[in-house]
Amino acid sequence: MNKMSHSKRSPLIFELIAECNTSKARTGVMTLIHSVVDTPVFMPVGTQGTLKGLLPQQLENLNCQIMLSNTYHLGTRPGPEILEKAGGLHKFMGWNRSLLTDSGGFQMVSLLKLAEITEKGVKFKSPYNAESECMLTPEHSIEIQNAIGADIVMQLDDVVSSVTTGPRVEEAMHRTLRWIDRCLSAHKRPDEQSIFPIVQGGLNPELRTECAKQLIKRKVNGYAIGGLSGGESKDEFWKMVHLSTDILPKNKPRYLMGVGFAVDLVVCCALGIDMFDCVFPSRTARFGCALIRNGQLNLKQVQYKNDKRPIDDNCDCSTCKEYTRDYLHQIVTVETVACHLLTVHNIAFQLNLMKDIRESIKAQKFTEFVQDFMLTVYPDKTYPTWVIDSLKAVNINLL
Ligand SMILES: [Zn+2]
Repeated sequence: MNKMSHSKRSPLIFELIAECNTSKARTGVMTLIHSVVDTPVFMPVGTQGTLKGLLPQQLENLNCQIMLSNTYHLGTRPGPEILEKAGGLHKFMGWNRSLLTDSGGFQMVSLLKLAEITEKGVKFKSPYNAESECMLTPEHSIEIQNAIGADIVMQLDDVVSSVTTGPRVEEAMHRTLRWIDRCLSAHKRPDEQSIFPIVQGGLNPELRTECAKQLIKRKVNGYAIGGLSGGESKDEFWKMVHLSTDILPKNKPRYLMGVGFAVDLVVCCALGIDMFDCVFPSRTARFGCALIRNGQLNLKQVQYKNDKRPIDDNCDCSTCKEYTRDYLHQIVTVETVACHLLTVHNIAFQLNLMKDIRESIKAQKFTEFVQDFMLTVYPDKTYPTWVIDSLKAVNINLL
């Protein structure tokens, strides 16, 4: 907080370092109040202010530069007053690098069946006391996020499932535009925190286009693309991403919400996305699955009983340095320890993938990287059609 009181520079400075000369991929450096962030970046998700199974120090050791926290959980426990007293979430949880918080709206709509969206905000029954009704308004979401103090905060948007069709999608898109203005007006810390608006519009190209065109008129430091990765076909998914990045300005970061499978990350980097988040790598670790370049190892399977290799020979994480698959197989049901070791590896996997992507873009070798990567995932070249088509749209042909 005090860092910024004697300077008025932007809380987010985005500099492009290199652009792929074939696709829309780019690499850059985003300078936030708490740290610099190399893009494209994957942001691990810490729900209660901590990643399940990992301490902030361990995330730092993995070279994680930014993590995401859910406002819904923090807003209810510990609550904004305690966070404000603690001097924000960074101090409260002992994480000195950058943070991004979501608006709380999506969590509310997905967790609480009783949520109802009105023009005023998201109305819901308290999860602790069914008698009391609460309302998350755009203003209240920003108030909580101002107390949390993340470097990047998200507007409250009107979320509809990506498979919803009809007038509801249009209503949600227009309401999202009205709500960004209410969020921007309510923002109390514009010198320290950047609000990202969210491009909505379902799977309708006209609505997405209109939303993106309206949003770029706002004075903001970056943009998010929301409402995807929720059950739509991959073909519809990539087309909405492609269309959005064509409209969003080149000189600001673009954040695609809720995307984290390796193939999706590679494709969406080619489509010009700079930031990603997903609970998938830590969630799958809890089920005993370790991520590797050509898929996943389910360490519960008996085939790993005598397997003396690490999860991944090429991984430099502490789990791969010290533990073998047979050991992990033995403890994978002893929840906490195994979950911890696999989470370390899976986060390292995501961060290493993004590092390889960044380096390939810098070296103008991104096309070759994508071709090699897809061959590793699909060694018999049975590429899904959407992968072929999406990459072709940005001039990358698979081998
Ligand atoms: Zn590893």
